[in-house]
Amino acid sequence: MPSLFQNAVASIRMGVEDYRQQDSDRDISAVRNFYAGVLLLAKEALIRAAPNADAQIIIGAKLKPVSDGHGGIELAQVGHTTIDFQQIGERAADFGVSLDHKALKALNTIRNDMEHHYTSESATAIRAAISKGFPVVASLFRQLKEEPIARLGDAWNAMLETKELYDQELRSARATLENIAWFSPSISPELIKCGQCQSELVEQVKADNEQQDTAQLRCRTCGEDVEMADAIESAIDEVYGTDAYLRYKDAAENGPIYDCPSCSRATLVEGEDGCANCGEPLDYETECSRCGDSIGIQDYLDGMDEGLCGYCAHMHEKIMRE
Ligand SMILES: [Zn+2]
Ligand SMILES: [Zn+2]
Ligand SMILES: [Zn+2]
Repeated sequence: MPSLFQNAVASIRMGVEDYRQQDSDRDISAVRNFYAGVLLLAKEALIRAAPNADAQIIIGAKLKPVSDGHGGIELAQVGHTTIDFQQIGERAADFGVSLDHKALKALNTIRNDMEHHYTSESATAIRAAISKGFPVVASLFRQLKEEPIARLGDAWNAMLETKELYDQELRSARATLENIAWFSPSISPELIKCGQCQSELVEQVKADNEQQDTAQLRCRTCGEDVEMADAIESAIDEVYGTDAYLRYKDAAENGPIYDCPSCSRATLVEGEDGCANCGEPLDYETECSRCGDSIGIQDYLDGMDEGLCGYCAHMHEKIMRE
């Protein structure tokens, strides 16, 4: 027998599949399936919030106290009815499960009207009510510590196409990146993207981690792990790539992006103290010991500095050869 969670996932998938068809004949089915799926998901969240308790009692609509035979009482379920929309909201509050009851209210009303073969809502209003339920599903998945893309597949991507869910996901993903102390002042959460699908819905797996070198990133759109070095390299390219292109085109010079001698990534930025990817400090004598001219990063990286600018190093070599 499939678990409550599997049933929830199957209902949500069916509901979103109906929703995707954009066919008013399937709206009833979309509401029915999606709404049923969300309620099942909420019940699953309640059950997981009290893992040592009897699941039937947690989601039982009617309970009565009975003697436990040892001088105390315990709760027993009366009948087989499980909690309805209203009770789920109350129990969620009691169990510390966060559930946006308001977002589900419109869906609940439409669903009830439909069951009585009557709804005054337009197809647009029906679809809007469904899409308002998408963030509720995402929030429950988060609380259940389940990966939506792994469970919902295409349905998750269809849900992400709605502004309601996209905006919420973007906010939550960015919030997990806010704590990271980036090596480079050029890096900020908005620049971090998934290398696989280019999505900006990249989150940090452990949201409270503050260190860039231990941060683990994952894409909320495709579900893939995102390599930090790749994300930083693309971010630096996004900020300085055009400058680098123009400088090379106009003056045939490198910069302002250089390859880091420590990590070999193109993440060393002119004017910054160290590498944006590995944090290795850029620490060298910037003034030529012979003529006092400044020594460029490229000369330093080429290994020709030894305290001399490019010109003096060249002259020095010439003298040595003669
Ligand atoms: Zn991705
Ligand atoms: Zn580096
Ligand atoms: Zn010099």
